[in-house]
Order: sequence, then structure tokens, then C-alpha cells
Amino acid sequence: MLKTYLKFFVLYLLLGWLALVVQVYVVMEPFAIYPKYYIVPMLFVALAALVPTWVATKSCAKSEDPRPVSKERPKPITPKSRHKQDSLTGALSKDAFNEIFGLKIIEAKHINAPLSLVIFDIDFFKKINDTYGHLVGDSVLKELAEIVRANIRQSEYFVRWGGEEFILLLPGTGLQSAAMVAEKIRRAVEAAVFSEVGKVTCSFGVTTLKNDDTIQSFLHRADEALYEAKRSGRNQVKAKK
Ligand code: GH3
Ligand code: MG
Ligand code: MG
Repeated sequence: MLKTYLKFFVLYLLLGWLALVVQVYVVMEPFAIYPKYYIVPMLFVALAALVPTWVATKSCAKSEDPRPVSKERPKPITPKSRHKQDSLTGALSKDAFNEIFGLKIIEAKHINAPLSLVIFDIDFFKKINDTYGHLVGDSVLKELAEIVRANIRQSEYFVRWGGEEFILLLPGTGLQSAAMVAEKIRRAVEAAVFSEVGKVTCSFGVTTLKNDDTIQSFLHRADEALYEAKRSGRNQVKAKK
């Protein structure tokens, strides 16, 4: 407030003095311009400047943010810090993944490195829910996430893409190696004994990035491969170039 007041005061003071100088210069002959002609009018101008300063400061205050000013303002919540992890499985959330997916594609193209995508989905999960209840279904999702995490590297992204559908993004991994990773996880899931429900299987679709791929075309190809795995009898890995 004081800062605004001073700002306006200096502005009106300078404008007033400028007008004074011009007026004295025009009205009097140049040789007659001595400080004595200015001092008193300058003081009057300074006093007069208080009026527009007061008006301007008041109208400014009306439009000011009414919230109290605090140095400890909370940082704005950005998608980066919000919903980063899926609360049930601990996998990366879809929102968080969408933030980095496009960048990873650009990066892979730029450095000419392979980038593969695995989409997998629990087989007949609806039946598990219907038979054992939703809470048991949730515990299957948690246990599955543990198995997946134990079989991937830190540099790889594990995402909860939908209800019982997950994504793995594997930087630096070509199609064949990605299919091997998927097969390793498929076997691990198949071999595990899930508490309460026993056996669970998953189907996997794998693809690798092409130069002319967009996010959509890349995802679509992995989806097609997953659909193929489901159509061919489930509990298997299908790769699509
Ligand atoms: P398919 O082998 O073709 O994948 O069959 P499915 O039964 O697994 O597939 P469908 O898409 O028909 O069923 C998915 C079910 O997953 C439906 C939904 O109720 C359940 N689901 C989605 N999210 C959750 C969740 O967070 N917890 C639980 N318990 N169930 C969920
Ligand atoms: Mg399913
Ligand atoms: Mg599904």
C-alpha cells in the first residue's frame, strides 16, 4: 500500500514540476529563471500532488487481492505432485504417465533408441470380483502389482492404465526384449498363488515405437496386440510390429 502511494506521489510530483518548469520558462524570459522563482511553487505542487495520489491509491486498493499477504503461500498444486501414484497398487497413475509419455516418445525418436510398450489385462477379472467380492479383487490388483514390480527395472514405467489394465513403458528395449519381459511377468503371475483366489492370469500386448508413431497409434497397436492375446485364448503374450 505504501509502495503504491509513493509510486503515485513521485509520478504526480514529477508531472507537476515538469508543468511548472515549462510554464515558468514560457511565461518568463529565460534569463529570469532563478531557483527563487521555483522554490515556493514547487512546494505548492508537492502539496497539490497529494490529492491525485490519494485518489489513485484508493482506486488501486479496491482492485487489490483481498487475501492477506503471506510469505508462506502454499505452492500451487500441479498435476506433477497430484495423483502421481495410484493409491491401490502404487503404480504410476494414468495422469502422471500422460505427462511423460509424449516426452519419452520424442526423446526415443531424438536419440534413435528403441521404446516399447506393453499393455496387459487380468483375465476374467469380473468373475473374481463376482465370486469373491470387490475387496478381494482389490487385493489381487495389489499382489499383481508386487509381482510386476519385482520383474522390471527402475528405469521402466509401470502404470495403472484402467481398472485392471496396466501399461509398461520400456525405454531402450526393442520388440523382442519387450516380449521377453512380458513373458517373464506372465509366467510369474501364472506361477503365483494369490491369497484367497489362488490362480490368476493376464494377457499381454506388446509393440515397439515406429518413427511415424503418435501417442495414439503407438497405444492402438499395443491394444490390438492385447486384443489378439485375449482372442487367442488369454494367458499369453502377443507382439505386433
Ligand atoms: P477379460 O478376460 O476379457 O479381460 O475379462 P474381464 O472380466 O477381466 O474384463 P472386464 O472388462 O469385463 O472386467 C473388468 C472388471 O474389473 C470390471 C470392474 O468391475 C473390475 N474393476 C475395475 N477396477 C477395479 C478395482 O479397482 N477393483 C476391483 N476389485 N475391480 C475393479
Ligand atoms: Mg480383464
Ligand atoms: Mg479390462
